[in-house]
Amino acid sequence: MPNNLDTVWTRGHFIGGHPAVDFTNAVFTRHMPGDDNDLLNSPRDVGNWLHFAGLATKAQANAISDIQAPAFLGSVRELRETSFSVFDALAAGKPPSTEALGLLFERAAKGLSGGGLKLVETDAAPQIVRFDDPKAIVAFFTTISIEAYFALPRERLHACPRCGWLFVDTSRGGRRRWCSMQTCGNREKASRHKEKADDQ
Ligand SMILES: [Zn+2]
Repeated sequence: MPNNLDTVWTRGHFIGGHPAVDFTNAVFTRHMPGDDNDLLNSPRDVGNWLHFAGLATKAQANAISDIQAPAFLGSVRELRETSFSVFDALAAGKPPSTEALGLLFERAAKGLSGGGLKLVETDAAPQIVRFDDPKAIVAFFTTISIEAYFALPRERLHACPRCGWLFVDTSRGGRRRWCSMQTCGNREKASRHKEKADDQ
């Protein structure tokens, strides 16, 4: 059963342009985070995230929700932060740390050689064999991150100047500045407006 502590995922959480980038944005903000900044607070949040992203069925998401391994949530968050450090560096035009990249490759390798992931189609990402297997879930997140690391157009990867969320700018003109105009774009306008008013 869902409860009112679950993160309610909406399309506004999936503005990154790639699931691996959306995954790094599973926090409220990257700038001046508060105590309740994390949006992944239970295995159910992780399962629901994959379901909303179209990467797991409801039944598969429920299997993730039931994962009892105490280290699972911490591993997912650690991976998210590692992945964020890689893509945030690329968005800033800097090389990512070799430790961060090494951890991604290491986790993905474990998932592949340990049987947690399977390859079904030649052109698709590896799939999770069992959704109640915490190592497989973590390995899956690593493989989508590695795929994004090689495949994403880096000159189009940006960080929102207001909240720090990452996104791939797929607009034709390549001038997207905000994670979303509705949230950060308009808030920035409103606060500039306020500053001006305060000056007078
Ligand atoms: Zn933003």
